[in-house]
Amino acid sequence: MSNELKTIHEFDFTLICNYFKGLKRQGPGSPEVTQKALSFTNELSDNARIADIGCGTGGQTMALANYTKGQITGIDLFPDFIEIFNRNAIEAHCEDRVKGIVGSMDALPFQEEELDLIWSEGAIYNIGFERGMNEWNKFLKKNGFIAVTEASWFTPERPSEIEDFWMANYPEIDTIPRKIMQMEKAGYIPTAHFILPENCWTEHFYAPQFPVQEAFLKEYAGNDAAADLITGQRYEESLYNKYKEYYGYVFYIGQKKD
Ligand code: SAM
Repeated sequence: MSNELKTIHEFDFTLICNYFKGLKRQGPGSPEVTQKALSFTNELSDNARIADIGCGTGGQTMALANYTKGQITGIDLFPDFIEIFNRNAIEAHCEDRVKGIVGSMDALPFQEEELDLIWSEGAIYNIGFERGMNEWNKFLKKNGFIAVTEASWFTPERPSEIEDFWMANYPEIDTIPRKIMQMEKAGYIPTAHFILPENCWTEHFYAPQFPVQEAFLKEYAGNDAAADLITGQRYEESLYNKYKEYYGYVFYIGQKKD
């Protein structure tokens, strides 16, 4: 299909995808944090079934594969991400037990009580934390674990600039106690939570974007949508630097109740 026939919506997605697919991660996180979150779950057997929902190109999935046994299915809406994901699995020599598939988190292709572990870093916001926690519960075995990262407020109040930004972009952002309450209501015992350290944003998410931004602006010279995308990314980074004491990502780990 030529660009002329695509809707603006489709073109924007292609653009966003082209920007992010050049990066190892598409959201804040780090291998250390993935390993730490995993330490709050039960040890898995060779037969374990794990899903990484909104896996992107698999930065965290390959780390997860290093520290677990069993079969991991990565699932993402964007076919280009999944293509890269499966190439990364081959490079990491784990393609026999790590497989990426295209699909949507609101229509997961799993059986009820099939999964031992549900993983999702920086992605549950796409359907909302509460909805994801509720809808994904049925795919977990009893006593299975869920581990997700989610944008959260660290203080009961915050400056209006950052409040307004989040209300416009993800109004479901909330305080940690309220997120934990939502998790409990969705049928999990909240077993642990911790705030992602700053380097998950600065070193692992923003710094790798600098060279990609330069190359992207050259490749799409004269394209307003591309220029806007980079301006938006830079603005988000400046907000993080200014307001990081008020918000960030939190890893929430829970066990499905009996
Ligand atoms: N987990 C990766 C990481 O931490 O690097 C990617 C995080 S990125 C911020 C969010 C991901 O969710 C993207 O890869 C995006 O394609 C995916 N996504 C968005 N909507 C989705 C949906 N409805 N179903 C599955 N994946 C979705």
